[in-house]
Amino acid sequence: MPQTSPSRMMQFRLRLRHSLMGPHVLAFLPALALAGFWLGGESVLLLVALGVPVLFSLAGGFNFDTAVGASPGRKTDLTDAHGAVAMADQALEQAGQSSMATACILVDIEGFEALENRFGDATVQTARDLVLGRLRTLLRKDDIAVRIGDARFMVLLGPALRLDLEALLQISNRLQSALEEPASIDGTTQCLSAALGFCSSVRLADSATGQDMFAAASAALTEALANGPSAIRAWTDSIKAARSARQSLRGEAARALENGQIQPWYQPQLCTSTGRVSGAEALVRWIHPERGVIAPKQFLETLEEDGRMQRLSEVVLAHALTALRGWDRAGLDVPRVSVNFSMSELRNPRLVEALKWEIDRHDLTPQRLGVEVLETVIAETTDGIIVRNIAALAKLGCQIDLDDFGVGHASITSLRRFAISRLKIDRSFVTRVDRDEDQRRMIAAILGMSDRLGLETLAEGVESVGEHALLAQLGCDHVQGFGIARPMPAEQLVTWIRAHNSRIADTPPLDRHSS
Ligand code: C2E
Ligand code: MG
Ligand code: MG
Repeated sequence: MPQTSPSRMMQFRLRLRHSLMGPHVLAFLPALALAGFWLGGESVLLLVALGVPVLFSLAGGFNFDTAVGASPGRKTDLTDAHGAVAMADQALEQAGQSSMATACILVDIEGFEALENRFGDATVQTARDLVLGRLRTLLRKDDIAVRIGDARFMVLLGPALRLDLEALLQISNRLQSALEEPASIDGTTQCLSAALGFCSSVRLADSATGQDMFAAASAALTEALANGPSAIRAWTDSIKAARSARQSLRGEAARALENGQIQPWYQPQLCTSTGRVSGAEALVRWIHPERGVIAPKQFLETLEEDGRMQRLSEVVLAHALTALRGWDRAGLDVPRVSVNFSMSELRNPRLVEALKWEIDRHDLTPQRLGVEVLETVIAETTDGIIVRNIAALAKLGCQIDLDDFGVGHASITSLRRFAISRLKIDRSFVTRVDRDEDQRRMIAAILGMSDRLGLETLAEGVESVGEHALLAQLGCDHVQGFGIARPMPAEQLVTWIRAHNSRIADTPPLDRHSS
């Protein structure tokens, strides 16, 4: 989008506003009126009384800074989402009046939670003040910085001629570098990470509101956060397209869950010592009549936001147990099927009862079901119901797998507390394990620890024969990944297992512990 340049009239109004507005003018009003009356009588008094308000309205009202709080002494440090949108509205209006641009930059700080855990709330508050202070030091007089959440801050840039992508990237980089400088907080040196998402008004339609600009910057920040703790992202057409695709899927997802379009596919897991199938993981897919197969990343968040995760777990569980019965009937040896349960599913107070009922209904035993819980859930939860549910599932006989192990910081105590029986080592450790010495050392350390703790192990995301072979040699118990098979419909897995079984009957299994 081209940059707009202000007209002469607008520039005049802007200059007028800067020189006329602010509380200092009010202070001179009585003096002006008195001088006018003394020099020119009643008519000049009238002129001053009427003229000043007219000049104010010509100039476009009070300066945003003065009203909302960027001026010294009246700083607004914290506002809610409603307040943030109102501020963004004013910033847009002010920029629009002078045909200039503005931008909303949202900043998310990572590290406050760790600070709070170690030092308490007062230290976090000091850190928040420090962040706000650093932002305000870097900004110009017309810019605004406020806190809008526990670890989230908003910057609104005052009217400027050039706020294109390059300029905003420069500003964002400057802000990020300043925020990530080590800081002395309550006697300790701390390093915080800052993710930034921004949207310039030049990328929005003329009719855009503060809500639109704030939502666009939020979407850019979400994208930044998905790319690591220190990422910077702009509101772009591709984020816009992804967002509108998600929104159009939103209405459909609930219906799809009920009419059977959302159902799990299955990815086989192999035992490294025998080479045989040791289980299958149920991974949900949306078989969309027009768009084809849609991955869970694109609709799980929508289902979560709509409070449909409980229903999803019912659908997946019923489907997975039916599939397991089907494989049994086909004469295949699939010892177990595993399902993924999110935090909200694990919060269901009726989870264990419903699960027991489903297992009975399918005439199966709880040992045939695995429940995958993300390491982040275990690491973060203090929620009693989740702890009780996982403990009850383990007691019932279900295998509890710790999913994405290695990226979620679960403590060794929590492994015991949640009765974990298997670690699913995250793909990030598995990739190139056969070619990267650091990866190999990491996997060896995880396997050594699991061995000592009496935990089984499964390596996720095994993509090559080399990775598979090395994991087997290092003593990893199970493997799963595209290198073995991609997730597939339940009935297709029947054909795959038959072919696999005849393959391993002809070939000796991969050698374990040979190096
Ligand atoms: P996850 O449970 O860690 O599942 C593994 C993901 O890695 C799956 O992605 C799988 O298709 C993919 N994958 C497997 N092998 C390889 C490989 O060799 N290379 C690569 N690059 N990827 C591989 P998918 O199916 O897209 O699922 C993503 C995540 O969505 C899952 O991660 C799980 O957290 C969640 N999910 C999937 N199905 C369900 C479900 O029914 N309920 C819940 N709550 N979450 C689910
Ligand atoms: Mg999983
Ligand atoms: Mg995983």
